[in-house]
Amino acid sequence: MTPALLHHLILAVADDMIAHADELTELDRAVGDGDHGINMKRGFEAVRADAGSTAEKPLPDALKAIGTQLVMKVGGASGPLYGTLFLALSKEIAPDASNLPTAFAKAVEAVKARGKSQPGQKTMLDVLAPVQTALAEGGGDLSARLPGVAASAADATIPMLATRGRASFLGERSIGHMDPGARSSALIVASVCRALED
Ligand code: ADP
Ligand code: MG
Repeated sequence: MTPALLHHLILAVADDMIAHADELTELDRAVGDGDHGINMKRGFEAVRADAGSTAEKPLPDALKAIGTQLVMKVGGASGPLYGTLFLALSKEIAPDASNLPTAFAKAVEAVKARGKSQPGQKTMLDVLAPVQTALAEGGGDLSARLPGVAASAADATIPMLATRGRASFLGERSIGHMDPGARSSALIVASVCRALED
């Protein structure tokens, strides 16, 4: 992991999140309070502004800096949860990312603990967990396959009944809409993978 590659990855994720802010907000308007895109945009604009100095850090420190920014800037339910994901990853990851599958598994467990949530409740975990499983299974072409895994997993939240987060207040009316956090998680996975292929 060179500073140049890390810089490229950070900008790819931040730019995609900023570019999809309206879409995420639209999704959150259907099942929440319509701020997910605004929240993520605010957080990733802060991450983007610091990308140069963050990319100079060793990978664990860089992930810590990103997680801290997300906790401070995103807000809502998703800020602490995405913050937890990146901060837990920063604690577990080796500087050369060689243990990514196990580190990511622990980070997903940390999100579950923080959210008191599990896959199947129509949240970001419905993307993070299947991505984690695919990572753990390994095999060739992971960076080519994971975006599809994540996108299908986000689509699979459409028929789900929300039982966590703001969408759960809607009860049955949460059915028929994609979870905004599932979509933002799928976008992050796709951005990282695509940037790794560049
Ligand atoms: P808020 O719901 O506070 O307005 P956001 O709109 O930014 O925050 O984020 C909503 C997203 O956060 C949801 O779509 C869902 O994916 C995720 N989320 C909310 N609560 C939880 C939870 N307990 N566990 C996992 N993810 C959650
Ligand atoms: Mg919201």
